Amino acid sequence: MKGICILGATGSIGVSTLDVAARHADRYKVVALTANGNIETLFQQCLTHRPQHVVIVNCEKADEFRQTIDGTDIADITVHAGAEALQTVATLDTVDVVMAAIVGAAGLLPTLAAAKAGKTVLLANKEALVMSGQIFMQAVAESGAVLLPIDSEHNAIFQCMPQGYTPGHSAAQVRRILLTASGGPFRKTALDSLPNVTPEQAVAHPKWDMGRKISVDSATMMNKGLELIEACLLFNVEPDAIQVVIHPQSIIHSMVDYVDGSVLAQMGNPDMRTPIAHAMAWPERFESGVTPLDIFEVGHMDFEAPDLKRFPCLRLAYQAIRAGGIMPTVLNAANEVAVESFLNEGIRFTDIAVVIERSMARFKPDSADSLELVLAADGQARTVAREEIRLLEP
Ligand code: NAD
Ligand code: MG
Repeated sequence: MKGICILGATGSIGVSTLDVAARHADRYKVVALTANGNIETLFQQCLTHRPQHVVIVNCEKADEFRQTIDGTDIADITVHAGAEALQTVATLDTVDVVMAAIVGAAGLLPTLAAAKAGKTVLLANKEALVMSGQIFMQAVAESGAVLLPIDSEHNAIFQCMPQGYTPGHSAAQVRRILLTASGGPFRKTALDSLPNVTPEQAVAHPKWDMGRKISVDSATMMNKGLELIEACLLFNVEPDAIQVVIHPQSIIHSMVDYVDGSVLAQMGNPDMRTPIAHAMAWPERFESGVTPLDIFEVGHMDFEAPDLKRFPCLRLAYQAIRAGGIMPTVLNAANEVAVESFLNEGIRFTDIAVVIERSMARFKPDSADSLELVLAADGQARTVAREEIRLLEP
């Protein structure tokens, strides 16, 4: 029996993780759930899954939650308030497995704490890895933590790696990684209408049902840029050994090209419960609840090279990983600020890339060798990105 802590339980990945965990209550005990402020969803999850601990980052919401459970039969749950408690629950002795599913930089410290504590870390929160890079991978190596990728592409690549492969190492027999992308909702949209797309259009992903931030990232293809950096770190490869492939059907979730000419692909319906179940059962397999793939219904699959003019964010991600140092941290921070502004209708869709590019131009690839340097670069890049937003033409 394994104890699981779900960081970001109320989000899209969190909900899918609880769905899988409930199918395997003989193997998984839900120990801790965390939310930013969505206490309505958290309350329902507590009734169903009976965790011992919850964390609510928003302190007022935490008080409200304490009042809500008072006198109910879940009144014995320990309710923690504030961001620091995320690290507390991610490192509990009763927790073996941590699902890192907070969105954005807010997930870094608890995910890193779980890695340092030697937990099995199921990594969905790609921003945490992109911003901290080698520091995160070193923490995993030093503590002996088990790192399993949840991002569907990285989970697919992991499944296609040689037997016994451990993330963080390189695999000599691998020639190339083919990182697939759906191309998002604007793959065919006329370029001159892109400035006018609305947040609602941007979050309506054709193939995946996800949180709002990652949905916008998919529309700009910054998601693929972050995943490119994520893949370089997880599989210890250079960016030039990764080919991004647009595959609109999202049936192949990525491929590994071997020196003997074999190309292995992992396929399945686009449902995050597959990679989640893969990681939760690893090195075995168990049932996920995902509809079996009907290959005849798929019929055919298309592949095309990405257009870096249409998707400048992907170009910026290549630029950031090639430059190294703090540049991936800067890219991620500027993107988080720009996407939030776009979602609040502060900037246009096409301004996201403009803000990131102008922000990056104001940094050098200084060292990112310590957590302090990473957090400082993250903070400075956010300030710079906000300035660049103010400087945009109205
Ligand atoms: P979401 O927006 O649906 O959920 C985010 C979760 O994080 C929620 O539980 C929320 O309460 C919590 N959260 C938000 N801000 C927080 C803060 N400041 N402090 C603490 N908690 C906070 O997002 P999602 O789609 O589930 O994505 C989660 C992560 O997984 C992201 O990093 C995303 O890139 C990655 N991911 C998601 C998918 C997907 O299909 N949804 C696929 C691959 C990777
Ligand atoms: Mg992905």
